Amino acid sequence: MLGAAVGSFLNVVIYRIPEGLSLLYPPSRCPRCHTPLKPYDNVPVFGWLWLRGRCRYCKAPIAARYPLIEAFTGGLFLATFWLFGFSGFTLGYWLLLSWLVVLTFIDFDTLTLPNSLTQSGLVVGLIFQAAMGYSETGSVAAAVHRLMGGVIGAVVGVWLFDLITLFASAALGQTAMGGGDAKLAAMLGAWLGWPGVLLSGFLACLSGAVVGGSAIALRLISRRQPMPFGPFLALGAVIAIFWGDVLIGAYLRVFFPSL
Ligand SMILES: [Zn+2]
Repeated sequence: MLGAAVGSFLNVVIYRIPEGLSLLYPPSRCPRCHTPLKPYDNVPVFGWLWLRGRCRYCKAPIAARYPLIEAFTGGLFLATFWLFGFSGFTLGYWLLLSWLVVLTFIDFDTLTLPNSLTQSGLVVGLIFQAAMGYSETGSVAAAVHRLMGGVIGAVVGVWLFDLITLFASAALGQTAMGGGDAKLAAMLGAWLGWPGVLLSGFLACLSGAVVGGSAIALRLISRRQPMPFGPFLALGAVIAIFWGDVLIGAYLRVFFPSL
């Protein structure tokens, strides 16, 4: 329920940041008739269901995407709590996943990843690292150590992205990646450390190639049509959060059995 309520706020962020609007004012309202929503119509998922997807006042249809993002965020929050329980990781990954939901849908809508979001996400990620280091041991040295891990992860993220851009541009014969993607990769490095961002980048390329290749083969999009890469990076990061240790462990056992 907390996740769905956060998802309701994320809908507002997704809609308002590309428009350059304030996140706090005005409160939620119908995008067509601008009537403010009653608190009981603003209940995540259920509000949309009992209004049957229409504004109470002007009957304008409300996209099913709103309750779906609320339900999806609720699912992500639940899965995080399931895996990490009452811990700093749960709180931290709730934040990271919120940033990723917003970035994913803004990238779908506008093919951009706003700097304000990737940069703030990077800073919050570094704070998360320092806080985790301090809370685990109570020592400042551990906080600095984890913070450095986040900084190294961010640098590896940018470096990895240059490499991906180089190969993708060569393969497609045109500039393949937007600048926002590199900043998102840096943000993921800050949160997940360098092994996590390498795994996320690998999974993003794999899923992006499969989805993009299939869409071109099925003639859903043309070869030249720009495709957002942020959602694939976000997907890679979600897999890295939930299964990163398992995947990296399996990789090391296969390729470095002597370790
Ligand atoms: Zn309305």
